[in-house]
Order: sequence, then C-alpha cells, then structure tokens
Amino acid sequence: MEHHDLLAGLVRLHVLHHAAEHEIYGQWMIDELAHHGYRLSPGTLYPMLHSLERKGYLTSREEFQGSTRRRLYRATDLGRQGLAVAKRQLRELAGEAIDDETCISKNGGRESDR
Ligand SMILES: [Zn+2]
Repeated sequence: MEHHDLLAGLVRLHVLHHAAEHEIYGQWMIDELAHHGYRLSPGTLYPMLHSLERKGYLTSREEFQGSTRRRLYRATDLGRQGLAVAKRQLRELAGEAIDDETCISKNGGRESDR
C-alpha cells in the first residue's frame, strides 16, 4: 500500500468499523477496502488483523466450509470503544483538514471587504 504508514491507521479503523457491524474475514475486507481505493495484499492485511486481535480490539473464530478454513473477526467491546474515540478524532480532523480547504476559496474575497 502506498503511503502505508499514513494510511494504516485509517485502514485499521475501517476494519474495526465493519467488524463492529458484522463478522468479517480477510478476503472480504480486502475487497471492501479495494472499493474505497485501498489496495492491500493479504500480506499486509492479515498481520493487521492479528495485531488488532492481539491488542484486544478484535476477537476471532474459525469456520470450516468443507476443507477450507476461514477465520472470522468481530470487534470486541474495547474495539467499539476505540472506534468511538477514533471517530470523534476523525470528525475533528476532517473539520480542520478538509473544511479548511473549502474555507480558503470561500474566504478568498472576504479579506478585501474589510
Ligand atoms: Zn467500508
């Protein structure tokens, strides 16, 4: 993933967001992230899932479909709490980083009115 260090946090939040709504598994998450413009390989996503689980944000169970084994992940209470905090901060950042851009063009003429 390009700009991995910067985007990794957003990807983790995206994972948590979906895992708070329903069980997810690796390939589903990779496809979902692709719709949002993130191109992640299993080699990037799986370690993320594992570390989120190790930190207590996700819990997982194994499911067998015939001979294929799949690990399903779901957000824990800690994961939901973390997500709620992160969402507040995300809104805060969006308010500053994104609204500022539209402000600049809107305020373009205002200074000269004074
Ligand atoms: Zn999504």
